[in-house]
Amino acid sequence: MADHYEVLGVDRAASQDDIKKAYRKLARELHPDVNPGSDAQERFKLVTHAYDVLSDPKAREQYDLGGNGQGFGFGDIFETFFGAGPQSAGPRSRRERGQDALIRVEVELNDVIFGRKREMEVDTAVICETCQGTCCTQGTQPITCDICKGAGQIQRTVRSLLGNVLTSSPCGSCHGFGTIIQSPCTTCGGQGRVRARKKISIEIPGGVETGVRLQLQGQGEAGPAGGPNGDLYMEVKVKHHDVFSRSGDDLLATLEIQMTDAILGTDVEIKGLDGPVKFEIRPGTQSADVVTVKDRGITHLRGTGRGDLKIGIQVVTPGKLDAKQQELIRQFAGVRKATPPTLTTFQQSMFQKLRDRFLNI
Ligand SMILES: [Zn+2]
Ligand SMILES: [Zn+2]
Repeated sequence: MADHYEVLGVDRAASQDDIKKAYRKLARELHPDVNPGSDAQERFKLVTHAYDVLSDPKAREQYDLGGNGQGFGFGDIFETFFGAGPQSAGPRSRRERGQDALIRVEVELNDVIFGRKREMEVDTAVICETCQGTCCTQGTQPITCDICKGAGQIQRTVRSLLGNVLTSSPCGSCHGFGTIIQSPCTTCGGQGRVRARKKISIEIPGGVETGVRLQLQGQGEAGPAGGPNGDLYMEVKVKHHDVFSRSGDDLLATLEIQMTDAILGTDVEIKGLDGPVKFEIRPGTQSADVVTVKDRGITHLRGTGRGDLKIGIQVVTPGKLDAKQQELIRQFAGVRKATPPTLTTFQQSMFQKLRDRFLNI
């Protein structure tokens, strides 16, 4: 029902005089003798009724308090005090979006160099094949709830300090759905979905790191009653590798070489994570020198190009020499100009020395 003040086009603080003036003006425009349209006739009735109420001080007071439940009723009070109108919620849908799900995936370090496709099995909810998500046995459908008449809500008027307040609560008979499923599908128990183990194929992108979460849209649980699937989140853990470690998109390893190779230099071939890698040990190589093999690291995530492969060199000094070898080394020492030992900072270990070198490249 329209608000009486609005009908007359006056505000709530309007005086009796203002109300009378407003009524006269409207009555002249809308009187059936002047304006024969049916719209005008309806409005004339409303205007007259509004004037009847508002021109009588007692009726107006009651109307302002909302006591008679007409016009200025629950909605207005609700809006005044709580800033929102009554929620005409209506029945709620059985059909809802499914839950998002999270799975953890462990991958090998070599899988993340280029990325890899993989099949996985996940425990999830899938649409019920028997009823195709309708929740009902074949040939039946939900019927309107006769308690709430399909509204899903039961409304009650409660007297309160604010006058009569309309409250609504979900219908207990249909649980707020407004309909009742009389013969639920026996496969899913009327849920429209069942738990199942589902095979999914996932793609591990190159460059992914431990802790990265990837979103697979629509791969989560099926919703109730044929609702759309949620999303699946895949959290990646990259497994430890015994030889190769990772620094950003660079791969790191240490290569032990013989003293003679360090002195004279040599060509080496190592078994990389992505196949053989050839590089050169230059003559005069020192322990903790780093050989960088360009573009043999990990593919940049969502990009092109790769990091580098960095090989830290550890020179192995032979421990036991036979008499002939010792003699050769003495000869070698004799032909070289003697260099005295040099004092420098203490380094905990070769590992630390190597790490410092890696970080300073
Ligand atoms: Zn079913
Ligand atoms: Zn109901």
